[in-house]
Amino acid sequence: MAPNPSFKELIEQTSRPTLSFEFFPPKDEQSRISLNETVEELGKISPDFVSVTYGAMGSNQEASVSVVESLASRFRTIAHLTCVGSTRDNIQQLLNRYAKAGVAGILALRGDKPDNFDLLPDSDYRVALDLVNQVVLENELPVGVAAFPEKHPESPSIEHDIMVLKLKQDAGAEFAMTQLFFSLESYVSFVSSARNAGVTIPIIPGVMPVNNVKKVMRMAEMSGATVPQSLATELSGASSEVEAQKIGMDFTVELAAKLLKVGAPGLHIFTLNHYRAATEVARAVGLC
Ligand code: FAD
Repeated sequence: MAPNPSFKELIEQTSRPTLSFEFFPPKDEQSRISLNETVEELGKISPDFVSVTYGAMGSNQEASVSVVESLASRFRTIAHLTCVGSTRDNIQQLLNRYAKAGVAGILALRGDKPDNFDLLPDSDYRVALDLVNQVVLENELPVGVAAFPEKHPESPSIEHDIMVLKLKQDAGAEFAMTQLFFSLESYVSFVSSARNAGVTIPIIPGVMPVNNVKKVMRMAEMSGATVPQSLATELSGASSEVEAQKIGMDFTVELAAKLLKVGAPGLHIFTLNHYRAATEVARAVGLC
């Protein structure tokens, strides 16, 4: 059997788009059961890699680290890492643990800005770029970063976000994963502008299956993702939850298929720790 390629080689050299899944750490026994079941089921379709979210400012962080440590022996695992409110020493301790666990890479993030951001006394970080620098200069872990096809909520413009993405690439970031979005045109236009600005790293779209419609709409609102009017109208005209779910999943599969058609390097599916919708999307677009 050929040896496993490194994460960087995987993204750059794989002959087909990558398939990957995002999990979040469990908060209680019930969500632990749900995560374990999701990991088991999605493991059967052999994702190229998985990622695990990390709570900024202290929420559920140890749970995230232990999920990463347990998945890393089984999958290529990307550990999300937020730096806001942390010290360099704390972050370095985590990076050492991740290196020891054999993680495939770090998704270097700032984390959502807390209300008291300007007053934080002991944070050694202002922006994700500070963390990218630390991972690249002081560790040997591949590093990825976030990208925002519809603009980061705090940014003055998409051009500004692309300038920041280029700074992260220049600092050593090897790949980017996007925030959730529902518009193919947003992704295409963002990637095209990024390429024109000299960003060459893979920009992997994050896809959220629209199966639990209320929950996904809430997450869209929180992240600032625009829900296309046609989808909103169709969903609000649905006569039952089952019908709304079908409309949402048909929409997701069509978006995922179009993303691959326009050359997306992979699909990163936000599973919300449920396997059925993620499997359905991956199957429908021929990635498993
Ligand atoms: P930054 O790069 O620091 O950007 C934040 C703002 O500062 C932006 O407006 C940017 O334009 C601006 N900025 C940054 N650097 C500069 C600079 N040098 N000069 C001028 N302006 C600058 N959050 C979590 O808490 N846990 C997670 O696990 C998590 N996973 C995520 C996964 C993905 C794929 C994505 C897209 C987001 C995720 N987030 C997560 C949310 C993320 O932490 C927030 O969106 C956060 O608000 C911004 O993160 P960032 O890394 O892009 O920050």
